[in-house]
Amino acid sequence: MTAEIIDGKSIAGEVRGQVAREVARLKAEHGLTPGLAVVLVGEDPASQVYVRSKGQQTVEVGMNSFEHKLDAGVSSEELYALIDRLNADPAVHGILVQFPVPDHLSETEIVSRIDPAKDVDGLHVENAGLLATGQKAMVSCTPLGCLMMLRRQLGSLSGLNAVVIGRSNLVGKPMAQLLLGESCTVTIAHSRTRDLPGVVRRADIVIAAVGRPQMVPGDWIKPGATVIDVGINRIAAPERGDGKTRLVGDVDFESAARVAGAITPVPGGVGPMTIACLLANTLTACCRANGLDEPEGLTV
Ligand code: NDP
Repeated sequence: MTAEIIDGKSIAGEVRGQVAREVARLKAEHGLTPGLAVVLVGEDPASQVYVRSKGQQTVEVGMNSFEHKLDAGVSSEELYALIDRLNADPAVHGILVQFPVPDHLSETEIVSRIDPAKDVDGLHVENAGLLATGQKAMVSCTPLGCLMMLRRQLGSLSGLNAVVIGRSNLVGKPMAQLLLGESCTVTIAHSRTRDLPGVVRRADIVIAAVGRPQMVPGDWIKPGATVIDVGINRIAAPERGDGKTRLVGDVDFESAARVAGAITPVPGGVGPMTIACLLANTLTACCRANGLDEPEGLTV
């Protein structure tokens, strides 16, 4: 079997297109422009690239982008004062503080300072609780993007066996909650799981969110399974002969693609969906803040 490739780049383009159409409609019918504020602390080069890309894509779909760059030495009081101002600003519908932040700041405290209604990363305990109890929440962008791809690929997920490898608050746990919400039978695997290959072999859906390059080989995959590879790992690439590195996922793509029914590539799978879902969440937050119906298919 050779797996169908789930083209996250192209699906993300469709999601952005839908968001752009809805933003244009909000402007025309209600005079509203959704706004996303991104806060960057310090000068981490990778974070700068992410923030620039988020800002560009926000503007491209017609939303307002507000970028706040703070010195690496900023105090927690100064950062919280900024978050409080953004919470109170009616032009800001989504707030994202780019992680990681310097060690003297607490990510947990930062997240809990953000108004849950503007928590477009879905990390606030209120949103985690709403998701866990099957209520309307802001859902973390990466798992939301994975779910959108699965729905497109499989239609109904009801009754399927799903294994999520990884139990982080950002990816693994909300992913498992979303799959449970779709009536999958969900197993959450982690570093202490016994017989991980055996657990993965039973799965119709495999979500790998670990951060270990190519750790899931093809012979762990049930023939015909759908594989979503969240991992982003940079490894040496001696075959290039230019000393450069390359990106790989947590799944060994080559061997898994020979067994799976469908699989996401890295890069070009989950990554582009994550930013598209950030835009979708900002739009959803704007609709909710103004008592308007949420666009179909962009949230759960
Ligand atoms: P974390 O480091 O927070 O969590 C990793 C999880 O993997 C933990 O639950 C850990 O288990 C588990 N784990 C570690 N080693 C093993 C093992 N040998 N067997 C089974 N499970 C193991 O990572 P994140 O969830 O934040 O991210 C996971 C990956 O996804 C990373 O590569 C990250 O870069 C990528 N990512 C990609 C995004 C995208 O947009 N594509 C967005 C976010 C993340 P335990 O809890 O027991 O320690």
